[in-house]
Amino acid sequence: MSGLSDLYQEILLEHNSKPRNFRKVEDASATAEGYNPLCGDQITLYLKVVDNVVEDVGFQGVGCAISRASASMMTQSIKGRSLDDAHVIFDAFHNMITHPHEEPDYDTLGDLETLSGVNEYPTRIKCAVLAWHTMRSALNDDGQTVTTE
Ligand code: ZN
Repeated sequence: MSGLSDLYQEILLEHNSKPRNFRKVEDASATAEGYNPLCGDQITLYLKVVDNVVEDVGFQGVGCAISRASASMMTQSIKGRSLDDAHVIFDAFHNMITHPHEEPDYDTLGDLETLSGVNEYPTRIKCAVLAWHTMRSALNDDGQTVTTE
C-alpha cells in the first residue's frame, strides 16, 4: 500500500490490530452479513437502533487489514448518530472511494478520509466498501447477504 501516507497506514494498521466495536451486540435490532469473494472478507454487522438513532453497533468476521479497519472506522462513525446521518456518511464515504477525482466531503468524513487511498487499488475498493454496504443492508433490513460482486 505504498500510495498511502505513513500516517494513513499507521491509522489503518492501528484499527486493524485493535478494531473498535468488534463484538456481537446481543440485543441488536438488525443484523446483516457481507462477503467479498475476491478477497475472502466476511462480516456480520449488528445494529441496535432506537428511535432512529444507532444506539449500538458491532461487527464480527474475518478479513484483510483494509476490510477490518474500514469496518472498525465505520462503526465508530455511525455510533450515536441518527439513521439519516448514517445514510449521509455512507454516501460521502462511497463517493470518496468510487469518485477519486471529486473533492471528498471532509466535514462528514473526518478520519474516514484515511481510507481514500484505497481508490488507487481497484481490488481493495471492495474490501473497503464491504462493511458499508453491509451497514446499509442492515439499515434497510432487506435480509440479503451482501456480496461485493
Ligand atoms: Zn479484503
